[in-house]
Amino acid sequence: MTNDGTTSSGTTSSGTTSDRLSIDDLPVRDELKGQSPYGAPQLDVPVRLNTNENPYPLPEPLVARIAERVAEAARHLNRYPDRDAVELREGLAAYLTRSTGHPVARENVWAANGSNEILQQLLQTFGGPGRRALGFSPTYQMHDLIARGTGTGWSQGPRNADFTIDLDAAVAAIGEQRPDVLFVCSPNNPTGTAVDRATVIALYEAAQAVKPTLVIVDEAYTEFSHRPSLLELTEGRPLLVVTRTMSKAFGAAGLRLGYLAADPAVVDAVQLVRLPYHLSSVTQATALAALEFTDTLLGYVDRLKAERDRLVTELRAMGLQVTDSDANFVQFGEFADTHAMWQSVLDQGVLVRDNGVPGWLRVTAGTPEENSAFLDAVRTSLKELPQS
Ligand SMILES: *Cc1c(COP(=O)(O)O)cnc(C)c1O
Repeated sequence: MTNDGTTSSGTTSSGTTSDRLSIDDLPVRDELKGQSPYGAPQLDVPVRLNTNENPYPLPEPLVARIAERVAEAARHLNRYPDRDAVELREGLAAYLTRSTGHPVARENVWAANGSNEILQQLLQTFGGPGRRALGFSPTYQMHDLIARGTGTGWSQGPRNADFTIDLDAAVAAIGEQRPDVLFVCSPNNPTGTAVDRATVIALYEAAQAVKPTLVIVDEAYTEFSHRPSLLELTEGRPLLVVTRTMSKAFGAAGLRLGYLAADPAVVDAVQLVRLPYHLSSVTQATALAALEFTDTLLGYVDRLKAERDRLVTELRAMGLQVTDSDANFVQFGEFADTHAMWQSVLDQGVLVRDNGVPGWLRVTAGTPEENSAFLDAVRTSLKELPQS
């Protein structure tokens, strides 16, 4: 850009004239070339069930408490926030202890702007150039993208036909790929599949037998699961990290608050890469207010689990395949033309997610009314679209 406001180049790599450069015109890192940014469509339709958000807005008393806490924080915004987020980590540790029965202390907990930032800090610390991460696909696409973004190699191991982890194939992949970081997503996004305790222990041991490996158990959806959290597996396993978020069960995706629980040495290690004062005073104040309302917020979880189960039952009653779900979403299929199905449901005002798993779509459990609208739309689409 010149100082009279005009750009100096008007040609893109495709050769067409435009006053805008494209990414490919820039000397970006090789591993970013040809990539597209992560993001589900944010379309303005009546029923949005595509990003696994909680459909219930925060209750008014919590909104008032946030306003109070944020006002107090605002009085000190001339100062940097508590760099170590001590009070917040204590609150998160108390929540984990109470909800899992496994004692967690502030030293075991670290918090950041969404669990995606937690994952990024872990990869910056334990991954990086010359190192490799391994996950089991289909899984959360951000694991792959954060690996790439931190210069970490990415490999994927397969799953069984029912989307559970194939332990033998997983152990073989660990032996071949020799990962420095292993991702276990439970419940897994986008399939909804939970991983059992014994499998996680076996994966941890198989990985450590090859080389010291950080095992990240991504529990973004654990509050919706039929099974207990895997948090207690951190005991005696210093390289096992559990990551959590307030985006899903707590219904606070807009807050951007994620956290991890692990051995205190892991928490010390991420201090090497975290930006100073990364978690604003406003975020810390808001998250503390939300924690005061833990019981109210998690009160919606039971409702959502019931709705999730209703989606599974009704989709199966239509003759569709539905993957067993431990999350607040359901994977359903199998469609000869996945995109046509997605579009047909969208044309009826319901946005679901096409995660690129051939034949399958994913729907988030919304309010009972939203779910009914979704089920009606699928019924109509099944009648109208040619099936194979
Ligand atoms: C939604 C999600 C997250 C949460 O990301 P935030 O940055 O905390 O909003 C993490 N892991 C998985 C598997 C998810 O689906």
